[in-house]
Amino acid sequence: MQPFWRQEDDGAAAMTDSATHPPSTPVSASDPATRVSALESLLVAKGLIDQAALDALIDTYEHQIGPRNGAKVVARAWVDPAYKQRLLADATGAIAELGFGGLQGEHMVAVENTPFVHNLVVCTLCSCYPYTVLGLPPVWYKSSPYRSRAVLDPRGVLHEFGLNLPPEVECRVWDSTAEVRYLVLPERPAGSAGLSEEQLAALVTRDSMIGVARVTLPAAAP
Ligand code: FE
Repeated sequence: MQPFWRQEDDGAAAMTDSATHPPSTPVSASDPATRVSALESLLVAKGLIDQAALDALIDTYEHQIGPRNGAKVVARAWVDPAYKQRLLADATGAIAELGFGGLQGEHMVAVENTPFVHNLVVCTLCSCYPYTVLGLPPVWYKSSPYRSRAVLDPRGVLHEFGLNLPPEVECRVWDSTAEVRYLVLPERPAGSAGLSEEQLAALVTRDSMIGVARVTLPAAAP
């Protein structure tokens, strides 16, 4: 059995796989993708949803909204101290300055990692996630082991993600709700002083904005 964070990474991918199953492919009725596909077909057949509208919605979340939005926010905060202050004071407003906002991003809070504090985000109840800056949540974020263990043993979870937090660094765990969604502002990596805002944004990963990874410079070529 794979650890929870190595499982399939993206719910959207599961939906796409389902759509490409040839009719003869045996599928399990317990497979969520199959059940979603069956539900979708039924709702369309009954005229309760519009297929084109649904496709547009999926395209939005797969291609137009995603962690690159969050990465731009982080990079701006790294290069512009005044923007960083606005982000930490009113994340929803600061994120909207860059053109990002909407459903499930109405009440954002940015939490800053420092040499003394590391922030980790979870939704213990279900899977609340800042869609407008991070896109679709990874499967492990929604899994029961992550949701429970992120609170009970955050340092253990981080260790399993490959992030070993020194004991002197405080670990703060933020529980997302339907009302409030969190964005971790990771530490800017050492040695990145010469990089442009765009180059910095390219370094920022989804996992670093959830708090299960640090942002690092790519290893130098041998
Ligand atoms: Fe939730």
